[in-house]
Amino acid sequence: MQGLMQRRDLLISSILEHAARHHGAGEVVSRREDGILSRTTYAVLARRARKLATVLRELGVAPGDRVGTLGMNSDRHFELYYGISGVGAVCNTINPRLAPDDIAYIIGHAGDGIVFADPVFLPILQAIAPQLTDTLRGVVVLGEGACDLPPGMALHRYEALMDAAGEGEEWPVFDENTASALCYTSGTTGRPKGVLYSNRSTVLCAMALAAADAVGPRATDRILAVVPMFHVNAWGLPYMAPMTGASLLMPGRQLDPASLLSLMNGERATIAVGVPTIWLGLLGYLRDTGRRLETLQRIFVGGAAMPRALIAAYNELGIAVCHAWGMTESSPIVTVNAPKPGTEDLDHDALLDQRAAQGRCVFGVDVRAEGEDGNEVPWDGVSQGQLTFRGHWIASGYFRMPDQDASGWFPTGDVGVIDPHGFVTLTDRSKDLIKSGGEWISSIAIENIAVAHPHVAEAAAIAVPHEKWGERPLLIVVPRPGCAPSCEALREFYRGKLPAWSIPDSVLVVDSIPHGATGKILKAELRRLYANG
Ligand code: ADP
Repeated sequence: MQGLMQRRDLLISSILEHAARHHGAGEVVSRREDGILSRTTYAVLARRARKLATVLRELGVAPGDRVGTLGMNSDRHFELYYGISGVGAVCNTINPRLAPDDIAYIIGHAGDGIVFADPVFLPILQAIAPQLTDTLRGVVVLGEGACDLPPGMALHRYEALMDAAGEGEEWPVFDENTASALCYTSGTTGRPKGVLYSNRSTVLCAMALAAADAVGPRATDRILAVVPMFHVNAWGLPYMAPMTGASLLMPGRQLDPASLLSLMNGERATIAVGVPTIWLGLLGYLRDTGRRLETLQRIFVGGAAMPRALIAAYNELGIAVCHAWGMTESSPIVTVNAPKPGTEDLDHDALLDQRAAQGRCVFGVDVRAEGEDGNEVPWDGVSQGQLTFRGHWIASGYFRMPDQDASGWFPTGDVGVIDPHGFVTLTDRSKDLIKSGGEWISSIAIENIAVAHPHVAEAAAIAVPHEKWGERPLLIVVPRPGCAPSCEALREFYRGKLPAWSIPDSVLVVDSIPHGATGKILKAELRRLYANG
């Protein structure tokens, strides 16, 4: 027997329509290229997204077509998310900081007919356009700017197209499993691979993010989205925020601590979301300048492990830090570190240890740690395994690639342990683990301790080949300004915190550590630079 409830497809367009109707005054504030803040509301954005639907139709975009975006976080990028997915087309968010050759590959592989680009990224498109004459027929610039394109490829101005378009119509209704967005993984090995989200997976993931023990904002919250919109749909914030009525603050390209702090204080941010590198940089700036975060209450962090010392430092400023874990293939939310009965009344140290874990599963996804035999290892907090997950917003394969999902459990490439409460702690990416004398050493554990040293600003640990042990850990540190930590002092700092054999033998002090587009440390680059000793 079937239930007698209305059957409505879960469509992305319905999120913005809800926001326009029930949270019409909710704001999206974006920092433009010239530094000026532009301010708009969900009511206006919904109207513009509907206009954009008309523009897309006039540009020849049909349901199922892929449309590229090369843009930072802005209200216009937000409109594109909704306009493109709303007409049943696929919003292919492209990371502008990738090598031009990878960008060309993505546009070609996705088959983007039109790419919308921030003016600053036009030179990239001009350089690669000659390779894309088979696919790309037009570029729309999100502002003022021009570039030379090959014959047959048109350059349009976004606002001119929007001005010429009539008021939009009602959103079309289609199957909720229709593809909505396409995001290519960074591709540290081989070519980037496309993760193809659906309307249904996106709406469900946003609902999971909106739950109290996930990000759970109130309509009165103001969320700073530092995580880029070209990266895993900015972790779903552009969907979750309008769903809840919370306002969104978009920093554009100004991601330096001073700009972020002025945006957060000036715009009364209550929640901020981004990778640890951002919070590390901001903390240094707060310490150096004596400035304060005036309204911020909570930070959500993911993408890389947030060191315990950094969590503690923000807690001392009265700001709660919540760790979350996921990846492009998981839309991204899988675990969030929210307390459970039995984990909320630990003493200060135990609580901090617990807060440094990546967290427990939200409803809608499940996680396992698998041993070498493929069986689940016990939830004892020590048995390590390859993490796999499954759920409503987990990829079942990659765009235009052979089927991958035989078991139904997606292999993450992350290694970790699960404790008796179900909290996952990541030990490493499997490729970043260090294997010394047959024993695994966690680079994350080494890094977390190093950044707790008062003279260390940032740290990375990598494996270096070793004749006797196979591999040994090398610690690479960036000192705090005016400090010069010695190898002996750092090694001494590890005593009692790690088993002797997993303490790095050598420490390299460097001026800076290379980061990828989303602020993660580029371990592969560090191995290339330093692993030969
Ligand atoms: P994102 O950076 O948004 O998480 P990516 O797909 O670029 O998405 O990278 C996913 C990988 O980042 C994960 O497989 C994991 O190795 C790492 N990662 C994500 N969140 C965390 C976290 N909280 N702690 C440690 N590593 C993390």
